Amino acid sequence: MEFARLCDYADNIEQTNPGSICLVKTDRNLEPGKNLFKYFYVCFDALKKGWLEGCRKIIGFDGCFLKGACKVDLELGDGAGLTIMSDMQKASFEVKLKEELAALGKLGKENNMCETFNSWILAPRHKSIITMLEDIRHKVVRRHVDMIQFAETWITDISHMARVILEENKELSRKCKVLSFGTDRFEVDEYEYRYIVNLRRRTCTCRSWQLRGIPCAHAISAIYHQEEEPYNYVDHWYRKEIFLKVYQYFLEPIPNMKMRPDTNNMVIEPPAPKPMPGRPQKKKRKANLDCAILDFSSCILLSIQTWIDYFVFFGPVHVF
Ligand SMILES: [Zn+2]
Repeated sequence: MEFARLCDYADNIEQTNPGSICLVKTDRNLEPGKNLFKYFYVCFDALKKGWLEGCRKIIGFDGCFLKGACKVDLELGDGAGLTIMSDMQKASFEVKLKEELAALGKLGKENNMCETFNSWILAPRHKSIITMLEDIRHKVVRRHVDMIQFAETWITDISHMARVILEENKELSRKCKVLSFGTDRFEVDEYEYRYIVNLRRRTCTCRSWQLRGIPCAHAISAIYHQEEEPYNYVDHWYRKEIFLKVYQYFLEPIPNMKMRPDTNNMVIEPPAPKPMPGRPQKKKRKANLDCAILDFSSCILLSIQTWIDYFVFFGPVHVF
């Protein structure tokens, strides 16, 4: 029974990957005398350091809130300078952010990235708990190497997606009319709409530039007006040097659980079944496993770098 050895598994990770944090949360009240599984959290040190050094602070979370360990591990502080993406679609800023992300998603990505991540781990999700965690860890390790090799295929110093968006915006900028107010401030008319661009602050009132870090069509028309090169105004997050910083640290290998002796660690039991909407309550055994997996996936913490960068509790993973 893999649930029973979850604490041993957490120790295994922490001992082999120094600086990493593993938490196994249980519920002791639901069934007295039993430690029912609630969630498993892991933050690998190598991936955390890569994220802190190479990722823009955009975080998406799927049905859970950033608090406790996540907040500390990722050094989020009071949230200043942090952009948050959620699948909850409650606040207007989230709606705006989703629009922007949908635009980024034009290059073959799904719009809802939290769901994209879930689909990425679809096969492991249907396995038993430690086997599933191991499968996901292996996927992350393989992807880590793939991403380093991927950066070598870039034909410029900025990512493919950033380059495509920049080229599209260059095309759109042809329709804009610019009026300069000194060297850094501009009124830019696009049809019946007017936007204010500030090149020094790298802002446009359409907010696209601030959100994406890639000059919008309005900004590009102002940049061209100043006879400068839009490429130089693309955020450093899109540069190959920064991209590779995310992947400069590697996870350490960990031994197989079969080769690890049993300990006196707390024995974890599968979670109590939760009522599944529209679903009969008959198959209790199956419901247990589903709940475990759902609880697990709902704790997934991911962040999205500007070109769609998934940080799970397993670390940053670029999804292309
Ligand atoms: Zn704009």
